[in-house]
Amino acid sequence: MVVILKQKAKQEEIEILTRQIEAKGVSVSLVVGSDVNILGLVGDTSTIDPSVIEANRIVERVMKVQEPFKKANRMFHPEDTIVDINGAKIGGKKIAMIAGPCSVESEEQITEIAKEVKKIGANFLRGGAFKPRTSPYAFQGMKYEGLELLKKARENTGLPIVTELMSPYDIETFVENVDVIQVGARNMQNFDLLKELGKTNKPILLKRGLSATIEEWLMSAEYIMAGGNENVILCERGIRTFENYTRNTLDLSAVPAVKKLSHLPIVIDPSHSAGKYWMVEPLAKAAVAVGADGLIIEVHNDPANALCDGPQSIKPSKFAKLMEELRVIAAAVGREI
Ligand code: PEP
Ligand code: MN
Repeated sequence: MVVILKQKAKQEEIEILTRQIEAKGVSVSLVVGSDVNILGLVGDTSTIDPSVIEANRIVERVMKVQEPFKKANRMFHPEDTIVDINGAKIGGKKIAMIAGPCSVESEEQITEIAKEVKKIGANFLRGGAFKPRTSPYAFQGMKYEGLELLKKARENTGLPIVTELMSPYDIETFVENVDVIQVGARNMQNFDLLKELGKTNKPILLKRGLSATIEEWLMSAEYIMAGGNENVILCERGIRTFENYTRNTLDLSAVPAVKKLSHLPIVIDPSHSAGKYWMVEPLAKAAVAVGADGLIIEVHNDPANALCDGPQSIKPSKFAKLMEELRVIAAAVGREI
């Protein structure tokens, strides 16, 4: 339920109304917008009679939220959320560019790629240290050593690091050492992991599950937000369909859908969507045109010998050309890169 307040509502009056609603066992959050102030009610609102609330002189209107996600709902927060990562932002006019290899492979590899993507204009460095591989015999990542190498690359370039967390046991280490915690597609419904992340205030890049609907994905965001962490960035990375030419099917319609339903920023991962390096460029362009707030792209200096996802990785030279072309598309849709 959402309570829209009148412009003239005074602070003390809002507090009295808040306490009155909280006494019914419902949690209330005040959202101060530039045009309108609202109270977002989360919990069992069946005990609340909307007509009683509407009778209050500071209340403009009471609206029921149909969707099961509340804090992630745009009704709770009419303005777009901008997640601030020590000054680097995701959301808003500027499109965030997250680039780097699928996995950290060595100090030389991650440092060299970090320097290249920084020079080209990326705002964040990606790189997996813990890898969720389909086969237990495939490269599982450099783990803690990989995190240390990412930190060195950050020291060298100033780029904030985005990396995947797989286990709740490592949350403290990640909170201490990384800038954005990625929850991979395979863990989107690991509810214990999401609940623990909700207790932190780290920005979370929440990838869409392989077969998750948009509503299920937003409910996963809700798990994190319900714990108090509202720094959630959504990431569409392709979904499972009957089509098997591409690794996954990029659901570009998720961008306008999420923008309508939610205030959270959404980034597109064209690399895992396509699974093919030559499709990264056209899909990235389409993502910017459709309104994505950012892109996460796998860039490798030696894709042929990459330990993971080489076939979908582009070289720095191709990334540089893509950035130039994306700037033109961004300007055409009122954004910048
Ligand atoms: C990745 O970003 O390297 C990754 C494993 O992504 P996803 O969870 O989308 O498969
Ligand atoms: Mn990958």
